[in-house]
Amino acid sequence: MKICSTVSEIRGACDIACADNARADNALANHRRLGLVPTMGALHEGHLSLVRAARSQCDAVAVSIFVNPTQFGPTEDLSKYPRQFERDCALLEKENVDILFAPPVEEIYPNPNDSTTWVTVEALSEKLDGRSRPGHFRGVTTIVAKLFNIMQPQAAFFGQKDAAQLAIIRRMVRDLNFPVEIVACPIVREPDGLAMSSRNAYLNQQDRIRALVLHRSLQHVQQQFQAGEFSAAKLIDAATEVFAGEPQVALDYFEIVDPDTLDPVVRISQATLVAVAARVGSTRLIDNLLLQP
Ligand code: AMP
Repeated sequence: MKICSTVSEIRGACDIACADNARADNALANHRRLGLVPTMGALHEGHLSLVRAARSQCDAVAVSIFVNPTQFGPTEDLSKYPRQFERDCALLEKENVDILFAPPVEEIYPNPNDSTTWVTVEALSEKLDGRSRPGHFRGVTTIVAKLFNIMQPQAAFFGQKDAAQLAIIRRMVRDLNFPVEIVACPIVREPDGLAMSSRNAYLNQQDRIRALVLHRSLQHVQQQFQAGEFSAAKLIDAATEVFAGEPQVALDYFEIVDPDTLDPVVRISQATLVAVAARVGSTRLIDNLLLQP
């Protein structure tokens, strides 16, 4: 696995990875497909499932590890976000990743105090997590746009776990005509149902058990839906009751929305996203479920 930390190094590595005569001499017919998996590191099976999907669908696989400061709010966990670079490298080597891009912050944001160009998907970025984390999605779309421009992948792999992020990135790619296929991969869970997340490492033993209420509320909604309840308001009420049984967990939102526009749905008649965010101790967790009538 080639590890690159500068923009010029990674551009060269991506060109070589795609060249059975690809970009360098524009021989599109021979173009090898480069798949990118953007991450913030502290890798777990969820991340590795994206890497495996990329490996199976692409000729060359690149992963980025970058704890992106612009997507963290001033009171969020940027400085304590888990960093395990050596371990991450070993995991990626095992998955036969070709290229790892792990730049320092100054390489990506050399002039943080100058005026900055942002990529913002308006309106969508204010919904779900965007409401409780102002500026978060602007940071996400800006870093993803930069990675696409730097590495020029043909496909990029994202987890359904971050459903709002996925909708916003799909919209950015459409609106800005990025020549990148966005591939969504299913949520990977612990055996007891907790969605895997790098932030689960923050949970103490008690909070780890309390955190299961997110998955439990989603399962309850799925059961009610399967039993014929299509009213979003009634399903949200049912989920809120599940949270009432776990008073130490502070519900941020429980919403039933269109998976593309993220607008609330009144009655479920097509594929619908059920999304939840809650604070367990000081750790904010998210989870979701897609309902298919
Ligand atoms: P992060 O490192 O948290 O920024 O996540 C990097 C990518 O991994 C994102 O596309 C996430 O949606 C995806 N991801 C994180 N957790 C999971 C999970 N449990 N299952 C599937 N994908 C995940």
